[in-house]
Amino acid sequence: MNSIPETFGSAVFNDEKMRERLPKDVYESLKKTALSGARLEPSIANVVAEKMKDWACEMGATHFTHWFQPMTNITAEKHDSFISPVKGGEGVIMEFRGKELSYGEPDASSLPNGGLRATFEARGYTAWDPSSYAFVKDGTLFIPSVFISYSGEALDKKTPLLRSVQALGKQAARILALFGGRSGSTATPTVGAEQEYFLIDKEVYLKRPDLVTCGRTLFGAPPAKGQELHDHYFGAIKPRVKAFMADLDRELWTLGVLAKTKHNEAAPSQHELAPLFTGANVATDHNQLTMSTMRAIAEKHGLVCLLHEKPFKGVNGSGKHNNWSLLSDTGVNLFEPGETPSENAQFLLFLTAVIKAVDEHQDLLRMSVASASNDHRLGANEAPPAIISVSLGEELTDLLSALEKNTAYKGKKKVQIEIGADVLPKIPKDTTDRNRTSPFAFTGNKFEFRMPGSSLSVSGPNIVLNTIVAEALDEFATALEKSKDFHADLNKIIRDTIVKHKRIIFNGDGYSKSWEEEAERRGLLNLKTTADALPRFIKEENRRLFEKYGVFTEAEIYSRYQILLESYSTTVNIEALTVIDMVKRNILPAAEAYQNELCDLIMKKTSILGEESARTEKSTLEKLSCLTEALTGLLGDLERKVAYSKTLTALPQAVCCKEEVLTAMEDMREVIDELERIVDAAFWRFPTYNDLLYSVN
Ligand code: ADP
Ligand code: MG
Repeated sequence: MNSIPETFGSAVFNDEKMRERLPKDVYESLKKTALSGARLEPSIANVVAEKMKDWACEMGATHFTHWFQPMTNITAEKHDSFISPVKGGEGVIMEFRGKELSYGEPDASSLPNGGLRATFEARGYTAWDPSSYAFVKDGTLFIPSVFISYSGEALDKKTPLLRSVQALGKQAARILALFGGRSGSTATPTVGAEQEYFLIDKEVYLKRPDLVTCGRTLFGAPPAKGQELHDHYFGAIKPRVKAFMADLDRELWTLGVLAKTKHNEAAPSQHELAPLFTGANVATDHNQLTMSTMRAIAEKHGLVCLLHEKPFKGVNGSGKHNNWSLLSDTGVNLFEPGETPSENAQFLLFLTAVIKAVDEHQDLLRMSVASASNDHRLGANEAPPAIISVSLGEELTDLLSALEKNTAYKGKKKVQIEIGADVLPKIPKDTTDRNRTSPFAFTGNKFEFRMPGSSLSVSGPNIVLNTIVAEALDEFATALEKSKDFHADLNKIIRDTIVKHKRIIFNGDGYSKSWEEEAERRGLLNLKTTADALPRFIKEENRRLFEKYGVFTEAEIYSRYQILLESYSTTVNIEALTVIDMVKRNILPAAEAYQNELCDLIMKKTSILGEESARTEKSTLEKLSCLTEALTGLLGDLERKVAYSKTLTALPQAVCCKEEVLTAMEDMREVIDELERIVDAAFWRFPTYNDLLYSVN
């Protein structure tokens, strides 16, 4: 087996391979294109395609695909082979033209487009994103691509992300210039997406139609042992899981994904993988690759990888912490306080820009993580609430408060600080006692956005983060570029921003009831569900914001809004139909069969031993008949509600799903869970939570 440094990136047509295989001028021109985001010259594309194909064929590839990210949370691909007939002869050669590399036309008319593509122009096209490397996987050359309509509208999640990265870079550049360009001339967002997941034995999984169809269990009584003993988190990894993780790491390293940390998570059968951070665009591609690779490798081990946010009620759900920072073109992390007064002042300006952005656009951040599946997680005990706040840690909060009030900072030493003139005292990075309950925490030199769910593409949250921070930086730069007294105006901007937006700062327990009340007093939003959050996307000020920074057009916003609403209602309806089917064809029949068995038993017992002998059975039978009657009633109720919701238009339908369908499902679940507790295990047809959560050894 090759060493890890040899393995890493071996299936990627990365910089090293390009430099080695491409003529120098072609290589340089390609690099320039990748950096500027411009289109590739046809003559250059032809050479790159030829060399890329030769390499891919050496790697065993027979096909290529434009790999893109439609408006679902997974990726799409259509494979074409390299074969081409020999001109004037027989047989085939392997051919790949520049046009095929740069441009593709998938028949993607069945992918969600939210009304953007009328049928007469149903074919969008894909175009290579040269800022993300091509790679070979399972005999196919994958070409990371954007997906756009003929009229130029984005039909995917990559295009707006690239636009937002550009917008942010442009505004960050203005701020950096104001500080003399000492930390660089532009900056790009960096992202490290920590991925949580569950591993379940495949045989047990296949016996649960709800897991198979919906990715989550729709009923199931809590197991005797959940996560109360805290013996799973960071616990020893079981051999079967260890084998899975080893294979996963090797495959990800081959694909150039910087898989770094792995450990058990809080719930039984729950685990996490964290990569080293990289640029936002590549990090998003890599997270998609990580999710699909997890699924594929799990299969090979007779396991199933669950990426749903809440596969099991009552135990920890799965999130995807989105670590985000800004890196300058000279390699400076702009959220690192720095050593000099000027670096400190620049840090404070970037920091307050984020505080302002998050406070002003709480709704967009909340909206960016909204989905039917994540609704079960946010606000549950183990996940941040639906309220957005920023935690900075006590020291930094005290420092900002001292700056705001122009008083002495009571750190280790009592010091009076003047922004831009003094060096900031060292803010300790509290790696041990960090606030884990905050949805948006500053963790020393980056922000950790903890609301994204485990199945979500990180594109959405990063599009929002990049855009709202771009706006804040734009405002600051516009004011400071006109300034006659930079020092005084800089101080004023930082102070004013703290005064105006400090309500968003909260370092306490985000899971507590008292925070919900406090947040309401502070006037912070609490958009509890997807149905509450999505309409914020199309608010006029939000549409204007995205348009101003060239991230979304109005038409793109409306189409995305439609897609998100539809996906929410469709998900809820599929869940309802699944539970209806399970109840009708399995749960009620099982309860009835057990009822019959009990009747027989009661008859036998009473005829031999007298009335009194069957007391327990009789009381169980009574409970059972009450429960089945209730369940039959609730079944009809749910069926009616589902049918009704389907008669509504998008937004009322989503609201109906939330208020009627989901609550009816919850009522039903209570009865089913009670039945599960009393029906003889020999009659119950589904694996229990115990069977599922402890299925992997
Ligand atoms: P922590 O213990 O604070 O969670 P880690 O070093 O384990 O810190 O990092 C957690 C995640 O944050 C990793 O995916 C890591 O790559 C990412 N990360 C670290 N620094 C940055 C940064 N500057 N920008 C984006 N992500 C980062
Ligand atoms: Mg973390």
